[in-house]
Amino acid sequence: MQFGYIVEIINKLKEKYEFEKFGLGMAGSISKGTVLKSVNLGIKEYNITEKLEKETGLKVNVKNDAKCAALAEYKFGKCKNYKNVLFLTLGTGIGGAYIYNGSLMEGSNFEGFEFGHMIIKENGLLCNCGKKGCFEKYAGILAFKRKIIERLGLSYEISGHDLRAEMKKAGDKILDIQEEYINDLALGLSNLINIFEPDSVIIGGGFARYDYILLEPLKQKILNSNLLFNPREDIVIESAEFGNDAGMIGASII
Ligand SMILES: [Zn+2]
Repeated sequence: MQFGYIVEIINKLKEKYEFEKFGLGMAGSISKGTVLKSVNLGIKEYNITEKLEKETGLKVNVKNDAKCAALAEYKFGKCKNYKNVLFLTLGTGIGGAYIYNGSLMEGSNFEGFEFGHMIIKENGLLCNCGKKGCFEKYAGILAFKRKIIERLGLSYEISGHDLRAEMKKAGDKILDIQEEYINDLALGLSNLINIFEPDSVIIGGGFARYDYILLEPLKQKILNSNLLFNPREDIVIESAEFGNDAGMIGASII
């Protein structure tokens, strides 16, 4: 983990601005300032709050990045128009949060809402959490990008901008990958919609960069594939207003 880098950034900011508190949104299960487990960052039982406070002299608040993003979208972005919001970040993994009647729901000992580790395929792909067939192995945006990179024989280092240009050129050659991704995403998401019956579903993370090809087919798939327990005429599924910055904005208000 780039702990030294975080300290360096905070200390540089301290030279320019005057502030007492620092908010950090990070992937993983976080309780009382300690990162209990962050499977995609390979961190376990790490009291980042104590360490950062010692190194910077500032009060530090740490929260799961998806929860931070949901807070930002609820206070300042798209979620503020709804009471009950199902929020997901589709990035390297899948983060989740649920806002019920304006409040962020959380478990007692853990923050919970780990939608990414809901199993959607028995004996499926091995996840970093140790289980097999987790939702994020199929519907994280990284899973989608990887398949396209491999199909088109591109470098894993390709920028998002260049990848989207290649996708445009590839046209129908990647249509089956898009369909497969939407099927998996619709399966997991419809399970969550059946559980929570939200007013809206807001999706953040890297997904926002690909929503122009994914969002509408996803909505149609969920509405027209007998996936919903309570059928709907329509469903609000939108990209997060602040995209990848939502977690950072939310961390400033925790
Ligand atoms: Zn998992």
